[in-house]
Amino acid sequence: MTTTVARDEAPAPRRTAPADRPTVSFELFPPRDEAGADRLVATIRALEAARPDFVSVTYGASGRTRQTTRRLVAQILNTTALTPIAHLTCVDASRAETVAIIEEFLDEGVRSFLALRGDPPAGVTDWQPHPDGLHTAADLVTLLREVEAARCAHSQAQVVRGLVKPLSVAVAAFPRGNHATGGTRANDVAALLAKQQAGADFAITQVFWDAPSYLALVGEARAAGVTIPIIPGILPATDPARLVRVGRLTGVTPPEQLLARLAAHEDATTRHSAGVRATADLVNAVLDGGAPGIHIYTFNQHRAALDLLDLTHLGGAFAPRTEPKDLA
Ligand code: FAD
Repeated sequence: MTTTVARDEAPAPRRTAPADRPTVSFELFPPRDEAGADRLVATIRALEAARPDFVSVTYGASGRTRQTTRRLVAQILNTTALTPIAHLTCVDASRAETVAIIEEFLDEGVRSFLALRGDPPAGVTDWQPHPDGLHTAADLVTLLREVEAARCAHSQAQVVRGLVKPLSVAVAAFPRGNHATGGTRANDVAALLAKQQAGADFAITQVFWDAPSYLALVGEARAAGVTIPIIPGILPATDPARLVRVGRLTGVTPPEQLLARLAAHEDATTRHSAGVRATADLVNAVLDGGAPGIHIYTFNQHRAALDLLDLTHLGGAFAPRTEPKDLA
């Protein structure tokens, strides 16, 4: 890994027992074209060196990337040592269509999902959820569990496979409430509890820019009875234009102070370093506040993600690969 960010200002590595080391994971999206697919292969190889706990693969609005998501998840399963989590949305498909998609993923060997309701397609104003479809992410968690149970009911082999590789279901959480649906943090905590009751195993948050909003979500969720781990979703703040775009999409506006800090650097390399340092401060704050790990929104680029791991001492070097013992 080539590190371009000076570590002299970084805090010393956390002293944690190996079992307590924070989880590290990455979000990828299906490539839009062949050139993107080639670049992604190199990105995946670079990210693999950090030995992440899992990588998640997004699913386009209204299932637009159903086939490309499946292909990328299968590629990760079949050609890397990584564990993929397939994002899955339900709001624009009938229940039968959603069952068919779940079956396809399970047949492929996928055992981990991020169950989402999904957003309406951009620009569509009179959009309605599918009349025979599921209405919430919690419904999708329930359906995933039902499909797995039905498969196990018909096949002892499937029971054994399920015991060896249990189905795991993640869900989304929103430190500042779900802007896309006009929801407050209180709405999101209620939705998160419903997802847990439906069988969700852990949650990953939407992007946020201040540790207190993540810690407040966790505090309010715990008070409401949510016990599942809530992993903070982290966007490396290296590209101001991307921060603004993500802000428009999610309603989570990047702080002016952060944008000004980045704008102060005309040189791309020093801007990158400043952005990684700012993100490392956020990562250290949430980990110090008890976060179980971090999920990095990579936008299919590895450099900022790996520099961030290096600066926060969370990279592959943190968990050295044990060399084979000399049996001679
Ligand atoms: P839900 O939990 O169903 O929530 C939808 C709305 O209903 C919210 O307003 C919620 O507050 C309300 N609600 C639901 N249940 C309850 C309840 N019991 N009590 C009170 N209120 C309730 N979108 C994609 O299209 N593809 C992706 O790959 C994708 N990946 C994502 C990954 C992450 C980590 C995150 C945070 C979001 C992602 N999204 C993705 C966006 C997501 O689909 C949208 O934000 C969408 O609005 C649905 O969110 P949800 O899954 O939490 O739905």
